[in-house]
Amino acid sequence: MKQQFETKSKRILDLMIHSIYTNKEIFLRELISNASDALDKRYLSILQGEGEDEGVSRSDLKIQLKLDEEKRIIEIIDNGIGMSKEDMEDNLGVIAESGSLNFKNLNESDEISIIGQFGVGFYSAFMVAKKVEVISKKQGHDAYRWVSEGSDGYELFEDDKEDIGSIIRLYLKDDEEDGDSFGLYADQYYVQELVEKYSNYIKYPIVLDMRKTRAASDDPEDTEVETYYEHTTLNSMIPIWEKDRADLKDEDYINFYKDQHYGFDEPLSWVHLNAEGLINYRAILYIPSKTPFDFYTKDYKAGLELYSNGVMIMEKNEDLIPDYLAFVKGVVDSEDISLNISREMLQNDRRMQTIAKNIERRVLGELRRLLKEDREKYIEFYENFGTSLKAAIYTSYGQKRDLADLLVFKTSKSEDYKSLDEYVENLDEGQDSILYAAGKSYESIDKNPALAKLKESGKEIIYLLEDIDEFMIKMLNIYKDLPIKSAFDEEIEEDSRELDETEKENRKSLFEKMKSYLGEEVVEVKETSRLDKDAAILVSRGDFSIEMEKTFSNQPDAPAIKADKVLEINPNHKIFDMLMTALSENDQEKLEKLSKILYDQARLIVGLAIEDVVAYTNAVMDLIK
Ligand code: ADP
Repeated sequence: MKQQFETKSKRILDLMIHSIYTNKEIFLRELISNASDALDKRYLSILQGEGEDEGVSRSDLKIQLKLDEEKRIIEIIDNGIGMSKEDMEDNLGVIAESGSLNFKNLNESDEISIIGQFGVGFYSAFMVAKKVEVISKKQGHDAYRWVSEGSDGYELFEDDKEDIGSIIRLYLKDDEEDGDSFGLYADQYYVQELVEKYSNYIKYPIVLDMRKTRAASDDPEDTEVETYYEHTTLNSMIPIWEKDRADLKDEDYINFYKDQHYGFDEPLSWVHLNAEGLINYRAILYIPSKTPFDFYTKDYKAGLELYSNGVMIMEKNEDLIPDYLAFVKGVVDSEDISLNISREMLQNDRRMQTIAKNIERRVLGELRRLLKEDREKYIEFYENFGTSLKAAIYTSYGQKRDLADLLVFKTSKSEDYKSLDEYVENLDEGQDSILYAAGKSYESIDKNPALAKLKESGKEIIYLLEDIDEFMIKMLNIYKDLPIKSAFDEEIEEDSRELDETEKENRKSLFEKMKSYLGEEVVEVKETSRLDKDAAILVSRGDFSIEMEKTFSNQPDAPAIKADKVLEINPNHKIFDMLMTALSENDQEKLEKLSKILYDQARLIVGLAIEDVVAYTNAVMDLIK
């Protein structure tokens, strides 16, 4: 009886079968990489002395390709760990990773990009094959044959395969007129090319009996040729990290990144380490160029591949890389880490901790190099992963302040990103602090009246756009001995203007009256010299800013904390004269209305909603009348 695929898998299968994905040849890399994983698992079990693998040794492990051009069949054969009947049902009936994805509302181009992001492993076989058979035997289990002709399901049969391992047999699709000619995949030279291109660094030999011809006899007169087969290993087998940097091209590193499924983007940059000393290890660490689609979800698994002297012992070791560098992909191979070490022991292993420290240092070093030498790439990195650096500074309560030199910002004077060092270097003589302004967009910050005079005075202001920015920068608090201050904080300047005593008294009682009308909404009403054309602004006092209040109010779970607000009034504005007149005439009603209108308008300017819109519009209408 035919078994059905899981719905999601069926969808992907359909996509594969009718694939318009151009890069169909990658199916071979996917299947070889599965075979190589299976060999890794078998080797580990041999080394750990599990089961009856007696007599099998590392050198027996291999991947064999068999091509039948006439029948249009290609086989990928491995003597790896193999699959039991249950394994086949579990592994080949579903698509593991895509489980978390909702495929329902996607259009075709989204689907293609998803295929691009996942790699679809085994299912990619259906891009080139009309029928797929998997014949496999696992130690201690009966052999089974899994057969599927596509999305209408699969069947399982008992099989008499005797040796442990798997055979993946593909019946190639018919050639399409003006389209793909799938027969190519049974062509030995084409397959050789594909293996060299995609699977050169697979650690196990990928062998193919290549058909060759030679003269039938030694007699030079005799022109007859005969066909023979030459057992050929197609791949170089030396893991890339074992090679010398000087012998590797960018392309090699990029191919390896793809081989290992680190991502379907191109890596932005990489470091290749070869550490010799107390601890010997080699590592290749990649910085991706794109944020993995699930990076900010709990499904994302960080970690580096861990090898012990060429044998993979863990696919994702999280202890090798700090959380804030979770985007780093790569491999670490150390002969000093024992094969049989348990996960718990690894965690507390001093050598592992030393390697992890080094890796962190080297990755940060590479980022600093990019910042200095390749700004464009650095910005690409920053736009993808800058938030991780900021989060590290924030969540470590400033402990990770040594990351501050990696932060970049746009400013009131620069549309290009600037580092804090570059900002500090160009500071005007009169400026003794780092000034920032936080908001939802560059435009909204730029238009904020509180910045008018500051910008006029030539001071440069860093613009902060992300929710986390202000929280992070407050944690930093100081950089290169300069305090970091918000341009939207309450102005604390001594009043230097000459005012006579009565005028001072009048203003004081005006502001007290206004404050009494506004109640708890503000902590103080006072005058300011920083406004140009505007009548009033709302700023904050203390550690919690208005932007932070907005961030909190957007998050359902966050406490409803409010900023302590100060209403600052421009004494050179006409409204101020109106206020003073109302005060001298003791017109309480008008004073109250004006105060509330000014306050509400100030709220609007900083992007806060007005609590009682009707009262506000009524008050405005009354004044116009
Ligand atoms: P992935 O390799 O990303 O897990 P695949 O769809 O390529 O996803 O394969 C699904 C699973 O099927 C693998 O994880 C593995 O357990 C199993 N599998 C595939 N090919 C082989 C093979 N040649 N030998 C043993 N197991 C295999």
